[in-house]
Amino acid sequence: MDKSIPFAASPPQHGAARPGWVYLVGAGPGDPELLTLRAARLLGEADVVVYDHLVAPAIVDLASPAVERIYCGKRRNDHALPQGEINLLLVRLAAAGKRVVRLKGGDPYLFGRGGEEVETLAGHAVPFEVIPGVTAAAGVAAYAGIPLTHRQYAQACIFVTGHLQDGSMNLDWPGLARPRQTIVVYMGLPGLETLCRELVAHGLPADWPAAIVQHGTTTNQRTITGTLATLPTLAQAAKLRAPTLIIVGEVVKLKDKLGWFEPVS
Ligand code: SAH
Repeated sequence: MDKSIPFAASPPQHGAARPGWVYLVGAGPGDPELLTLRAARLLGEADVVVYDHLVAPAIVDLASPAVERIYCGKRRNDHALPQGEINLLLVRLAAAGKRVVRLKGGDPYLFGRGGEEVETLAGHAVPFEVIPGVTAAAGVAAYAGIPLTHRQYAQACIFVTGHLQDGSMNLDWPGLARPRQTIVVYMGLPGLETLCRELVAHGLPADWPAAIVQHGTTTNQRTITGTLATLPTLAQAAKLRAPTLIIVGEVVKLKDKLGWFEPVS
């Protein structure tokens, strides 16, 4: 291979990370080894780390022990800090000349409010960079043995949030209930029953394959597979705990053949 051809964007060369900057960093779905090299380097150079509950402690610990750590919570119904305060906290820390690593689970720009945090930074003229991470869909699917697309089963894959608003799920059901498409639902456990019911009501067969994966990529990974008809009951019986990811589509059938990850706690 001609080594003079750049095959990846090289990180900006600043020497040590600059003071008064915010690095919005994706921490991946759980397994600390899924962190990017850039994320690991920035953690080693940080003055302060601001992190959410989905970020593995082993990742936060890549920062030196002397580094200030600020936990922002963000479990459902437990926001240690409201989003507006997190946004302004980042501005304040950068204004004080700190190199801030803002760690978010998965990828910062997928269902993580990363866009809102960066909007505030931009509005206050705080310099920032965004470092992508392995989003839960990619990480969890790989470790669960479920390819998100497959020539035989799915040519498209759609990511949605199943977050309930006023107890209902406001999704484009006709757009979701399509053959040859995989649906990945983030934050879907509380609405699993509604999700399965609506997909069937909008045309998917009741025996359409579906899976739910708890704590994917970690030693607590558990995968429950079933159909749109059976998954809600199976998931309830399994007493799954968040975070969980729901994958709907024929690709789920490949799990038995392609599963490889054996969580050992
Ligand atoms: N920005 C994150 C998503 C944040 S929303 C990302 O790109 O992955 C949080 C949701 O992500 C959880 O409710 C769950 O649906 C999903 N999730 C994150 N980590 C997960 C994991 N290890 N296993 C299963 N689902 C996960």
